[in-house]
Amino acid sequence: MDKNLSFVMEKKVERTMKNLHKNNMEAFYVKDEKAVLEKVQELINEGDTVSVGGSMTLFETGIMDMLRSGKYKFLDRYKPGLTKEDIIKIYRDSFSANAYFTSSNAITENGELYNVDGNGNRVAAMLYGPDKVIVVVGINKIVKDVNEAVERNKRIAAPANAKRLDKNTPCAALGYCTECNSPEKICREYVLIASQGNKDRIKVIIVGKEFGY
Ligand code: SF4
Repeated sequence: MDKNLSFVMEKKVERTMKNLHKNNMEAFYVKDEKAVLEKVQELINEGDTVSVGGSMTLFETGIMDMLRSGKYKFLDRYKPGLTKEDIIKIYRDSFSANAYFTSSNAITENGELYNVDGNGNRVAAMLYGPDKVIVVVGINKIVKDVNEAVERNKRIAAPANAKRLDKNTPCAALGYCTECNSPEKICREYVLIASQGNKDRIKVIIVGKEFGY
């Protein structure tokens, strides 16, 4: 990245981290995939029960492979052969995990996390249950404020996820949100985490590269 653009990005990350701290969320910056894996290993212990919300970032950074290494009790919702009932049980068991991993659809410079779910299991676990929530975001997820977060979801995150999941929704065909009421819509719970009462339960790792949608 050009050094002047790097400067702008650094300042944006600095503001975001400062405000996350102000909102009782712990924040870290790491430069790449290797560093994010090292940071995660500092934040959890071998033998911990861990779980994940749906996230491309967790696959792209190598965190999924790390959780599958056998060092952790991984409630793996993607394990081949799971029945619908098995997956529902994993969602429920995730509430008592030691650590829950997810990304965020957007993170604002005001230190807020914005997420839209179609099933609610991910945002529910972010809000309450697991001892720790570890949110991993690429720099592409940082936006100025809640308005930009909502736009980001409508213009990028939700259409890309609907396409990935092969949903029969307008956004999966057009590439932007039409605020549909399709039976297959993936946007049903709109959640803004503005602050935490349980200080540092949510830990945000900002990675200095682009990941996920
Ligand atoms: S509300 Fe419908 S059209 Fe809009 S992003 Fe969600 S699924 Fe797509």
